[in-house]
Amino acid sequence: MTSDHRRIDAPKLGEPYLLTPGPLTTSYEVKEAMLRDWGSWDDDFRAMTREMRTRLLALLGPGAEDFDCVPMQGSGSFSVEAMLGSFIPKDGKVLVLANGAYGQRSAQTMAYLGRDHIVLDKGDYLPPRGAEVAQILADDPAITHVVAIHCETSSGILNPIDEISEATYAAGRKLLVDSMSAFGAIDLRPSDIRFEAMVSSANKCIEGVPGFGFIIARKSELEAARGNSHSLSLDIHAQWAAMEKTGQWRFTPPTHVVAGFLEALRAHEAEGGVAGRGARYTRNRDVVVEGMRGLGFETLLDDRWLSPIIVTFFCPADPNFEFSRFYDLMKAKGFIIYPGKLTVVDSFRIGCIGQMDEHVMRQVVTAAKATLNDMGVASAAPPAAALKERAKLAA
Ligand SMILES: *Cc1c(COP(=O)(O)O)cnc(C)c1O
Repeated sequence: MTSDHRRIDAPKLGEPYLLTPGPLTTSYEVKEAMLRDWGSWDDDFRAMTREMRTRLLALLGPGAEDFDCVPMQGSGSFSVEAMLGSFIPKDGKVLVLANGAYGQRSAQTMAYLGRDHIVLDKGDYLPPRGAEVAQILADDPAITHVVAIHCETSSGILNPIDEISEATYAAGRKLLVDSMSAFGAIDLRPSDIRFEAMVSSANKCIEGVPGFGFIIARKSELEAARGNSHSLSLDIHAQWAAMEKTGQWRFTPPTHVVAGFLEALRAHEAEGGVAGRGARYTRNRDVVVEGMRGLGFETLLDDRWLSPIIVTFFCPADPNFEFSRFYDLMKAKGFIIYPGKLTVVDSFRIGCIGQMDEHVMRQVVTAAKATLNDMGVASAAPPAAALKERAKLAA
């Protein structure tokens, strides 16, 4: 980040940093870009929509010409539901790979849609492996599609999407990816990893504000999606066809959010695109993990599975540690952290994405150290049960 960013960073605006996986801390320029009103029908806004779609597609790298980008109103889950409802035929069958809340949500969406599916449930954080996927597909020829979560934001695990894709296509099936929290910081290039469609949203690694998601899909799948959707408003084929024809969104677009997002996309390019953004987040993660480990905290995941998006730490065993107090005291120091989402042991999460750099992450560690002191916590070491749970990953 430039020194200019630090001059106008969140604390200067009187805001705490959001160490959360979206909404996240955005730049002053993104906020400023939302200070005017746009007519949804007007040519200026149509040009903005066009530029946004083009810029997003370009992030795919080689092979992007076979894909198109369709924005969709709503939070990220609306786009996931749109993808599942639009690309999976009514007589299709899905294998959902779940290892956390977002995989479970995709499975729940399939249940709402009333479409056939099975779930490989790996629990809180174990990765679904290629060999398991291959076995399930071999055993069940009715499965037409595999749904995978790229970075499962509930634990922060970076799932092995490459081996999942290989297993899926080796068995002649199709892959749909929820890359919500990864896209823009972790490569998902069709030249390396085959997939039919993926989704992400405005308020994750591109660093916009919440208000819409987007689906990037093979044009052949977009064409074939006609008539599949269970929903009028979430019909990706209809949204795509209307946008191609008129340049407009079918229903009221989040105009200000799009304006802010375009500014965020320009900043993303200036930072060096996916590689540059990924490098900053990786540095953020490395600094916070090293610093927190230095205080005695332990991560849920081995280094091998740690994403540069968000990291889960075990809560200390010390009886003086209480998460809600830790949270409040961290907030008073300018940092909003995130509760954990594990079912077995207590944990919390620190996000690495948003307008923050390694200097900010060092301040986070300093604040955590002072907070442990405030609470009278002598050791940040986790309970034995947590380490036993973690040993499962190595097994
Ligand atoms: C953020 C996120 C979503 C979407 O969540 P919303 O609250 O609907 O925006 C879906 N999947 C993953 C992996 C996410 O991180």
